[in-house]
Amino acid sequence: MVKISIIGSGRVGSTAAFVILERDLCDELVLLDIAVERCKGEALDIRHALSAMKTASKVVGTDDYALTKGSDLVIITAGIPRKPGESRLDLSKKNIGIMEEIVENIIKFNKECMLMVVSNPVDVMTYAAQKSSGFPKKKVFGLGTALDSIRLRSLICEEFGVEDKELDAFIMGEHGDTMVPVFSRLEPGKFERERLDKVFRKIVTGGGDVIRMKGGTWFAPAVAVADVVESIVKDQKRTISLSAYLEEYDVYTGIPSIVSKEGIEALKLDTDEDEQSLFLTSVDTLKKELSKLDI
Ligand code: NAD
Repeated sequence: MVKISIIGSGRVGSTAAFVILERDLCDELVLLDIAVERCKGEALDIRHALSAMKTASKVVGTDDYALTKGSDLVIITAGIPRKPGESRLDLSKKNIGIMEEIVENIIKFNKECMLMVVSNPVDVMTYAAQKSSGFPKKKVFGLGTALDSIRLRSLICEEFGVEDKELDAFIMGEHGDTMVPVFSRLEPGKFERERLDKVFRKIVTGGGDVIRMKGGTWFAPAVAVADVVESIVKDQKRTISLSAYLEEYDVYTGIPSIVSKEGIEALKLDTDEDEQSLFLTSVDTLKKELSKLDI
């Protein structure tokens, strides 16, 4: 019996709920939002879809945290999304209060669960969620650079005409302007650096481009969320670049991590000197941001 709650039934939250249920990853899913009428409407719409797909899972929409009781995993997608031209870090101050209030409510009814943060700026929000919950650090994590890494590998495949499974490339650091591509683990000589850099530039601007064109991004984030859920629920131990806690820097940031039913474990992978130095700059940016906030 797997129970998942999603706090925030906006575009990302409701689409993630649909993908999770469509993949049959839980028995019960609670969607919670302060905009309760729309939230109930999303749950009803999804329920209709589930009956058409003949899936037995239960889904409810509510604004009552008591219904989240006994969740194995709570996914937080509530918050104010980026407007065109805004950076993810611009959102810190607006979203931090919302995050603390949500986590206080969750822990009233869930003494032991995993927390996955999607709300931006995701690394800062995940740090705040862990502090407010006091939950073990391996049980609290953010979506981090999961989506950026998926996009990176798929664009490299397109550019060079190779299969995804041949690629040991990912993005680490902040899910934001200082994210760092790791290309040093790719097979030497097979991928021209100039073309890799061109691919990476598309990743940096990719999310912003979608926001400019349609006001937000939700299909790709929802699938990335469902992949993480699947690895937890089926204990697949997949490696996904999530926002994980790094003790030596006291920061949450994107790093390849093993995802299992126990939580996540950040991997220490070898990268080259330039990548390491860019990673430290990214960590530094996050630490400066955290120091400005009262967490
Ligand atoms: P949205 O505006 O469609 O949905 C946000 C929802 O949060 C709304 O339904 C709103 O009513 C709800 N909400 C606000 N305050 C709340 C509170 N106190 N309690 C409960 N619900 C509350 O936004 P969206 O497009 O779904 O994006 C949600 C978040 O996810 C944003 O912060 C966005 O930047 C982030 N995001 C992250 C990634 C990633 O890769 N990490 C990708 C896409 C979006």
